[in-house]
Amino acid sequence: MKLLFDEMLKNLASWFRILGIDSAFYTGKSDSQLIHLALKDGRILITRDLPLSLRCDKYGVRCIMIKSDKIEEQIAHVLKETGITPVFPNFTRCASCNGELEDAPKEGLKDLVPQNTLETQARFWRCKSCGKIFWEGGHWINIKRIYEKALGLSAS
Ligand SMILES: [Zn+2]
Repeated sequence: MKLLFDEMLKNLASWFRILGIDSAFYTGKSDSQLIHLALKDGRILITRDLPLSLRCDKYGVRCIMIKSDKIEEQIAHVLKETGITPVFPNFTRCASCNGELEDAPKEGLKDLVPQNTLETQARFWRCKSCGKIFWEGGHWINIKRIYEKALGLSAS
């Protein structure tokens, strides 16, 4: 399942990348361009824009309207509507560029990661597309907490 997020939903797009779902996000695209991209790649369009969602219906593009301002409710809504069950945290994507991550052995990271991070973290990942290095930093606890909350909401 592949998703496409409109410009107002950058944070939600990053979230679905972290959850391991192929999530496209562009800036500066018109509604027609977004619809075209969704059709071309077979993506479900996620939007806050009612006129855009109505145009999606016309072009046969599946569209999900986001109304809530709370991130956990937004995540829950998309999970419920799509039926996606993320395999997070076993598989995640690059939050910046949607690339796939691969294990990055510590030996190769000496100049890329701060020394104390290298010493305190057990596992690292590298984005195959942009090269960004990831590890389970302090924010990881927060991500897991919000995700658990969203899962709970999507099941209710
Ligand atoms: Zn990347």
